Amino acid sequence: MADYEFSDAVKLHAYQNAGAHCECTADCKEHPNDRCKVYFWRYTEAHYYPINPDAPLDMHNCRMLCLRCRRNLEATAPPVS
Ligand SMILES: [Zn+2]
Ligand SMILES: [Zn+2]
Repeated sequence: MADYEFSDAVKLHAYQNAGAHCECTADCKEHPNDRCKVYFWRYTEAHYYPINPDAPLDMHNCRMLCLRCRRNLEATAPPVS
């Protein structure tokens, strides 16, 4: 599993932007028809995943996810070569 190294500033921005909740939306099988309800007390507890893995890892390309949603996304995302 690839690990994406976002800077702390980017992670913090994503965390605040997301209101400290997992940003995963309704098309995830972990929480069908609803947004994920996982809440993070600290931005360091969340997982950060690029919206587009080929784009630079900046604040426009960062999505904050919980571990389950990250795993789910990785399982369904097309493999990155
Ligand atoms: Zn989630
Ligand atoms: Zn999800």
